[in-house]
Amino acid sequence: EWIVICSSEVSHQETTALHAFTVIVIFGGKFTRLPHLAGTEQNLRYAEQIRDEWLEFGLDSVEMVPYDVLLSYPNKSQPNYISIVDQLFKIQNVQSVPPPSHALCGSTGEERHVSWSKGDHYVLRPSRLLGCWSPGTTGSILQVSKGIFVFTCVKSVKHNLCARVQPYPAGWNLPGGGAQRGNVLNLNGAGDPLTPGYPAKDYTYRFSLEDGVGLPKIPVHPIGFHDAIHLLKNMGGQIPPNNWKGALNVSYRIGPGFTDDFKSQKVRMNINTDNKVTRIYNVIGRIRGALEPDRYVILGGHRDAWVFGGIDPMSGAAVVHETVRSAGRLLSKGWRPRRTIVFASWDAEEFGLLGSTEWAEDNAKLLQERAVAYINADSAIEGMYTLRVDCTPSLHTLVYDLTKQITSPEEGEEGVSLYESWHKRDNWTNDRDAPRISKLGSGSDFEAYFIRLGIAAGRARYTKNKKTERYSSYPVYHSVYETFEIVEKFYDPTFKRLQAVAQVRGGLIFLLADSQLLPLDADQYADSLRKYAHSITQLAQTHPEEMKVYEVSFDSLFSAVENFTVAARDFHERLQTLNRADPLQVRVMNDQLMYLERAFIDPLGLPGRPFYRHVIFAPSSHNKYAGMSFPGIYDALFDIEHSADPQKAWEEVKRQISIAAFTVNAAAMTLTPPA
Ligand code: GLU
Ligand code: ASP
Ligand code: CA
Ligand code: ZN
Ligand code: ZN
Repeated sequence: EWIVICSSEVSHQETTALHAFTVIVIFGGKFTRLPHLAGTEQNLRYAEQIRDEWLEFGLDSVEMVPYDVLLSYPNKSQPNYISIVDQLFKIQNVQSVPPPSHALCGSTGEERHVSWSKGDHYVLRPSRLLGCWSPGTTGSILQVSKGIFVFTCVKSVKHNLCARVQPYPAGWNLPGGGAQRGNVLNLNGAGDPLTPGYPAKDYTYRFSLEDGVGLPKIPVHPIGFHDAIHLLKNMGGQIPPNNWKGALNVSYRIGPGFTDDFKSQKVRMNINTDNKVTRIYNVIGRIRGALEPDRYVILGGHRDAWVFGGIDPMSGAAVVHETVRSAGRLLSKGWRPRRTIVFASWDAEEFGLLGSTEWAEDNAKLLQERAVAYINADSAIEGMYTLRVDCTPSLHTLVYDLTKQITSPEEGEEGVSLYESWHKRDNWTNDRDAPRISKLGSGSDFEAYFIRLGIAAGRARYTKNKKTERYSSYPVYHSVYETFEIVEKFYDPTFKRLQAVAQVRGGLIFLLADSQLLPLDADQYADSLRKYAHSITQLAQTHPEEMKVYEVSFDSLFSAVENFTVAARDFHERLQTLNRADPLQVRVMNDQLMYLERAFIDPLGLPGRPFYRHVIFAPSSHNKYAGMSFPGIYDALFDIEHSADPQKAWEEVKRQISIAAFTVNAAAMTLTPPA
């Protein structure tokens, strides 16, 4: 049933022939034939299968690690639907396919009239809505009092390639009935809403649903754009601003209510979603490190899917699976990595990164002492254009070195490296002459490792051309049409792109686990810090008057960045003369490199977001998928011109600048000679 695609080698100057890492991408029906939502029998079956195969492949140990977390399912006997008076909109309901719903939203108790009004508002800030919703005015907080339905509008703007693509199965576009599932939580890194800070075990204290983290109280429901047309076409009220208009052939009036001709109509939302504590399973596999077993390099990605998971997450889970298979082969030939490698198949990512965050909470003390790096393995493909890498600055150099040794998967580029192919398609022109690498945001399982614990982290996948395809993720994202067949037919018929992604993810793990000196680059961190300091200063300088009046200065931050730059430069100079034959000397410097990312963690967290603790990076407060640098300062400056108390607001800016300056100085100190 499985399709063997190809095999190739990723090697590195520093590694010997024995260490050549073979990554074979095998991807197929096996894990995408049945829906496997978190908490279901089927997802447990797949977990057991993965455990058994990882043991067969030869890992030293594989365990299932359960947690009991808050999940939610649409109520089978009281299906969710939206209707106008008595015109029933049947929701897509294929046998055994979980019908579309927005996880962990509120339920409708009684008949409600949906309207945007100024009454008793709930402020809803789910990443899902904020990620795709840009009213374009000052904040993007949408205040809603009653309920929300969300539809995916495939915009037909001129430059959107996607507008010309046929709906699946003829093409890779979203059919009009397709709905994008997702959770609507506002967790800010908390993990399971009922057990923030602590692993969700049997003895763990649980908050009540009322006191849980990030649970919106209003109903939210996803629908396809065919149904949305019926709801939108007779809307009355004002004409919306231009950038609110989508591609549907309706006026996009914003209400409240319908036009006079349809005044008597009401929209009825019937949402009966059961939130319940449910058992989930992570699968954790290990290869014990030969020389430094107490140093961990982690490759993790989720297994749970909204439906079949053909792209999200199984295209990525296949990469983890094949990396384990390859590592197992090397083990059988006598190889053993210098450091311990941990492989993870996370559960319940779609319900708020729950499996990965609970495991991070469970193992926090071990991880903060021992984790070298975390590489994420969610969907390996979201487009057909080129590589996309988001990672911490200290990994940039490794990513560039590695991709120069991988061949381009593109047709007609035989003999061209992945680096060159990527560089040609996505040059980082306004910064330096190299392929673009972005900041890590969130929306996937690396979050707790990077943003809460301060472990160097990265992710890589194949992506679309963002100049011509200006939508987030891909059209069938989180719909029933995300199948193995859509990958095989459209995204990667030869599976070479997936293979290239496997070589990047696997290569990173291999080099981090097996290089004598950790391939982390502090100089790159210095460069990035300087860049971020400049851009946040520029933002503040759009208020020159206030900067003067309230005596706001970024000098302390720039001087900290300078200290960091000098410390990093000296550190790398000392590395050159390090006696590599002295294991203690090597270990001392490797530890400085490993703990560098940790030094950016502030245990107090960002204002209002206690689990976002990285002072340099956080998910944007306005779009969880996007990364924000110096988030504390940025959020303090956000919309400051509309602040009710400017004095207080600018004091907060100054406080955040001092926290950033302190943290960068403190991180610089960790790079100086220990004595
Ligand atoms: N990856 C899922 C999504 O984007 C969950 C993300 C999250 O809860 O942060 O819908
Ligand atoms: N597609 C999301 C991402 O880009 C993750 C998810 O929905 O599982 O990370
Ligand atoms: Ca927890
Ligand atoms: Zn995913
Ligand atoms: Zn997803």
